[in-house]
Amino acid sequence: MKKRVLSCIQPTGHMHFGNYFGANKNWVDLQAEYECFYGVVDYHAMTMPYDVKKLRVNTWEMIFNLMAIGVKGENLFVQSLVPEHAELGWIFNNFAAMGRVENMTQFKDKSSDSKEKSSGFISVGLFDYPVLQAADILIYKADYVPVGEDQKQHLELTREIANRFNNQVGKEYFVLPETLLTKTPKIKSTADPSRKMSKSAGEKHYINVFADEARLLKQIRSAVTDTGETTEGQMSDGVANLFELLKAAGADEDHTSLMKDYEAGQLKYVDLKDAVGQALLGLNQGFVAAKAEILANKKDVKYQIKQSSERIRKVAQETVREVKELTGLLNVKF
Ligand code: ADP
Repeated sequence: MKKRVLSCIQPTGHMHFGNYFGANKNWVDLQAEYECFYGVVDYHAMTMPYDVKKLRVNTWEMIFNLMAIGVKGENLFVQSLVPEHAELGWIFNNFAAMGRVENMTQFKDKSSDSKEKSSGFISVGLFDYPVLQAADILIYKADYVPVGEDQKQHLELTREIANRFNNQVGKEYFVLPETLLTKTPKIKSTADPSRKMSKSAGEKHYINVFADEARLLKQIRSAVTDTGETTEGQMSDGVANLFELLKAAGADEDHTSLMKDYEAGQLKYVDLKDAVGQALLGLNQGFVAAKAEILANKKDVKYQIKQSSERIRKVAQETVREVKELTGLLNVKF
């Protein structure tokens, strides 16, 4: 039997090459070896002030994008179609220590962001986010969760919640999944290689994986290479980022030969940029074509996702049924 992997993503508008190489490509690759449960977590997307008219659209958009890059529809579910996540989240609220949740750095960062950028409104949902995340993780009894550095603290909290739960019910019910540490590259903004490629920094700081050809090539052509601050003999952040993109895109031969040029002091930036442009375009063209096909069959695709969410929900329902049994809540079979 295949081992089970669980991973979730928030429904944000775009998908850029940072997201793709840093996270989503990994989802595609893991499918060969594992039974995968991939959630688009719209409950989590409500924790910061958001546009109610856009949430549903963004959720479907994320589904279409994921499918276009190669995530199988049968592995995808939408969190709000599996309301047991919220139910288990509530139950876990009672096994999570207030002081520990207060210390989560992501809450501190995001709540101070919110103070600066908007009305200063900070929701209880934002505070409670990692408890719901513990429910997302434990509800499927997954063997592995792929996590990045930034999520380590949340995983530690998940472990504590599981332990307290187990102690209180007197049974080793929840077994914590192992973390799956995969080596994923960190991609920098081509417009400013001192910062990461990110949506939040503005349009020129990310390259959409579905961008039209002209825009994609222009963004690569205008990539910052030398800022004049690099010390002699050290590769600049911009050039290193272009090499990173080349490697991430699988253009190994170009990578090797251009690196030789670099080491010989003969690298022409225009050659490096051409190679990166072509490598990204190769991926981009496949994605754009796949997305067009998905959009042409939107209705069927949505139906498929509702079906897969229903199937995956059965696993979540079984966990919640057992949890209610263990915690003294009523279980009624209708
Ligand atoms: P953004 O910073 O554009 O808002 P998100 O925070 O929504 O991106 O990130 C979604 C996923 O993509 C996360 O798993 C994150 O680690 C990964 N990711 C985002 N930006 C990058 C990047 N520049 N390089 C590598 N991975 C990234």
